[in-house]
Amino acid sequence: TNDLTGTLDTMIIGGGQAGLAMGYYLGKQQRRFLILDENARTGDAWRQRWDSLRVFTPAKYDGLPGAPFPADPLSFPPKDVLADYLERYAEQFDLPVQHGTRVERLWREGDRYIAASNGHRWEARNVVVATGAERSPRIPEFASLLDPSIVQLHSSAYRNPGQLKDGPVLVVGIGNSGAEIGIEVSRTHPTLVAGKAGGELPVKHGRAAARFVLPLVRFAGLHVLNVATPIGRKAIPGLRAHGAPLIRTKTKDLAAAGARFVPRVTGVDNGRPVLADGNRPDVANVIWCTGFHAEFSWMDPALLDDGGMPRQYRGVALDSPGLFFLGQDFMYAVASATLPGECRDARYLARKIPVPVSREAAASA
Ligand code: FAD
Repeated sequence: TNDLTGTLDTMIIGGGQAGLAMGYYLGKQQRRFLILDENARTGDAWRQRWDSLRVFTPAKYDGLPGAPFPADPLSFPPKDVLADYLERYAEQFDLPVQHGTRVERLWREGDRYIAASNGHRWEARNVVVATGAERSPRIPEFASLLDPSIVQLHSSAYRNPGQLKDGPVLVVGIGNSGAEIGIEVSRTHPTLVAGKAGGELPVKHGRAAARFVLPLVRFAGLHVLNVATPIGRKAIPGLRAHGAPLIRTKTKDLAAAGARFVPRVTGVDNGRPVLADGNRPDVANVIWCTGFHAEFSWMDPALLDDGGMPRQYRGVALDSPGLFFLGQDFMYAVASATLPGECRDARYLARKIPVPVSREAAASA
């Protein structure tokens, strides 16, 4: 981080793919910027996901700007390969990532933003918040009432079936994580999947889809289903409420793997999960595939709306000049929290971040 003391032009909080793509564009503009990231290594957000995970976006869409993903364009890389690619990307473009730095507070003083972490502070004229949409696991409150003998974990803590005890598993939620984890655990455990899928891609996911269908899905997710189009404004609230459709898996794959569908989980009674039909299945394990909350409680509430969420359009904060957001679910488009969406949105934001009046003045400030 060498000479990156004093007032920075821009500070990026979060060094996942979104923060790195942003860094690439800021580097091209020769700004003085720094990326603060809590993890020890670039790519760790992917390394921490479950062992068998592969990305559902084909390699041709997994590259960040300036460095196409080095794999067969129609293949779906394993998550650790993507993590290593991100790590090499940061090295290749000499992106200044300060690892092991979790920003605990962010506030504004005059025309500067101040970030604080573990006794250190950084000052910048602009801030891009790229801390990820999958920040804090969403788990129903009644989960704490489950009998302690039941192994329970959230999808973000799931790695492989070896973490589970013998006996039935209840997978709660049939989003992309629930469907994929449900298929995996069905191979080793009797499995119930609770809830309803929010639709599915009407074709088989694979090389042929990567060639013909996923380009259309990508186009729709970036350019059609966004808050600037009437069709996007109509579709986004429903997608927000019901979750994105299944991309790689189908509910029939779950059935073929032996999983049994049950109604949603509504509570806990006597330590056992209660389903919407009143049944109380006797399970040994529960995996909450119930999604995530974005988490901005570390930011000064004055920078957020009354619900603690960004007040922004297309990533540009509405009433905090110099504050930007990148990579939140449905922020601008349906694809805003995926690799292609984040890269596109980063390019857009790079044009919106004010250029210092004089670069020399910024350098000597
Ligand atoms: P992250 O990768 O989460 O990076 C954010 C970084 O910010 C992390 O390193 C985090 O530690 C750090 N951070 C957070 N808070 C702070 C703080 N206060 N201070 C400092 N650092 C902080 N998308 C696709 O395009 N294709 C896929 O195949 C795909 N598969 C997915 C599979 C799963 C299971 C999940 C959950 C998501 C998937 N996504 C996929 C969606 C998305 O692309 C990824 O979640 C991606 O990791 C998001 O990148 P990001 O940079 O926005 O966030």
